[in-house]
Amino acid sequence: MKKEVSKRRHNFFWLDTTLMLLALVVLLIANIVAKPALNNSKNVQKEKDNIVQESKNQSASTTLQSKNQKDDIYINLLRKEKNKIERISLEEYVIGVVAAEMPAEFNLEALKAQAVASRTYAARRIVGKALHKGYEGKKVYLCDDFSHCQAYIDKDEMKQKWGKNFEKYYSKIRKAVGETKGEVLVYNGRIIDSLYHAASGGKTEDAKEVFSEEIPYLKSVVSRGEEGCPKFSGEFYFTYGEFIKRLKKYFPGLRVETKNIFSQIRVIERTTTQRVRCVKVGNTILSGNQFRNIFGLYSTEFWIYPDKRGVRIQTRGYGHGLGMSQWGANYLARQGKNYKQILLYYYQNVKICRLKYR
Ligand SMILES: [Zn+2]
Repeated sequence: MKKEVSKRRHNFFWLDTTLMLLALVVLLIANIVAKPALNNSKNVQKEKDNIVQESKNQSASTTLQSKNQKDDIYINLLRKEKNKIERISLEEYVIGVVAAEMPAEFNLEALKAQAVASRTYAARRIVGKALHKGYEGKKVYLCDDFSHCQAYIDKDEMKQKWGKNFEKYYSKIRKAVGETKGEVLVYNGRIIDSLYHAASGGKTEDAKEVFSEEIPYLKSVVSRGEEGCPKFSGEFYFTYGEFIKRLKKYFPGLRVETKNIFSQIRVIERTTTQRVRCVKVGNTILSGNQFRNIFGLYSTEFWIYPDKRGVRIQTRGYGHGLGMSQWGANYLARQGKNYKQILLYYYQNVKICRLKYR
């Protein structure tokens, strides 16, 4: 999930968690499964009304064991490249996301942390009724495009990816998903925006630096042991011709004097974690994120070294830096931390709750 973080701000509604850690949250989303598209507002309201919370004095174990309760739901997943919609269970979807988003070689506890983060992302979209543009009538909340939702691969694609290791890795990931079945991250009664990235470069980003608002569970933390990430550091080089050409494609009004060009490129502001907030090139100011996207950099933690011929750019970390670092999670798992400790480290003060369906 190297996504545009700004795309992941959804409004949502939900319940509260007055229950303890691992409390049960009741989601009555049978309509999502059983009915075709709900296009009119009346039906949407009806569906909303069906999402209720478990009563406070109802014990978790009682609810868990009660009969006639589903333990999974079906979702419509848009396979963008295949140009089709697949109907799969949520837990099956999470297996495909973990397989696509995290190396299967990773420690089981890191894979479990990833499973919870990925399920949380999906549940937030479903509960928040974040329908995909153009697919509203087909009840599509999720696609397999990593730059939009989360990457996902099916079994055939896993076979291609892992070859002779398919059975081993598939059962490992299925175990990671199974052992965290239904678990999601909740803050203050709401499913969180469970952002994650490959490697932070040493420190995760504080959400306040990226969004204008504070997000209490997305604070900056030290993230060690990420150096194994293949894109942990990067070096890029662009001649001035290429550099200006790329920028002008997005900023046609950009003006740079051809003389002493290197003196007209500079980082003007960084966040507290050293990521670039804005860069000035000639007469134009770009955000660190715009600059990153235009030049295909691994992160916004970069340094620019102009020379006589062009621009050398060094990067540190891979991804937006918010929330859980996948390589950092694997490091913590290798240090003996379990998935709950990992999740509570990267997402502060959240609770791990279990989705419940009826
Ligand atoms: Zn999507």
